Amino acid sequence: MIQTTDAVILRSERFRETSRLLTFLTPDFGKIHTLAKGVRRQPSRFGSTFQLFTCNRIVFYERKRSGLQLLSQCDLINPFSPIRSDLKRTACAVYFTELVDRATEPADPNGRLYALLLRALRDLSEKEDLREIVPLFEVKLLSLSGLMPELTRCQGCREKITAPCALSLQKGGILCDLCSKKEKGLLQLSMGILESIRHMASSPWELAHRIRIPEKNRGELTQMLRQFIAFYLDEKIRSRRFLEEVESL
Ligand SMILES: [Zn+2]
Repeated sequence: MIQTTDAVILRSERFRETSRLLTFLTPDFGKIHTLAKGVRRQPSRFGSTFQLFTCNRIVFYERKRSGLQLLSQCDLINPFSPIRSDLKRTACAVYFTELVDRATEPADPNGRLYALLLRALRDLSEKEDLREIVPLFEVKLLSLSGLMPELTRCQGCREKITAPCALSLQKGGILCDLCSKKEKGLLQLSMGILESIRHMASSPWELAHRIRIPEKNRGELTQMLRQFIAFYLDEKIRSRRFLEEVESL
């Protein structure tokens, strides 16, 4: 069946002499792997540069039983050019697309996740102040993927948490003082960090974007989210190191 959709490029690799393997995130079909044949033929029927994190309108032949779809058209809608002229913004965009790629399985549509990625790319190309965009994107991605630990009630006794507590990655949530005494290998969580993460997870993007994380909590929050991602997604997010190097410049 022939399908048309908007799609953001998550991965783009050369395949043989004239073809390209492209992984897209789409609002209605989820993540799809496609093969684009004859991309170097002139004139090309593809009006796209096939660059990472560009937004395109694509046409593909959907083969239900195959993991690889055949791409017949790909036209550029938004190249997000302002991101590409700035190293830090580029590092963020590459990191976000890699996180989305790791957090998704093919053919499992999540329209809100697509909207999140597009929103973050728009902000990266338009907004001046990007201080909180990385932790905010990480929190939203974990929430929308169903990977965010439970941060309201104790995973042991179900009591509501109102004091500093500990987090068990294995149990997927926080533990009260009493319950945490029975466990080993817990991460300590201050109320400030807990509140910041809860707030970012539950507020709409635009409101959450205005949250200012106190400077003294920033390191702790970064560490905490990194541990969540390593545990629930993957130890090795390649673009994370690139982002850290760029941030330290
Ligand atoms: Zn408890």
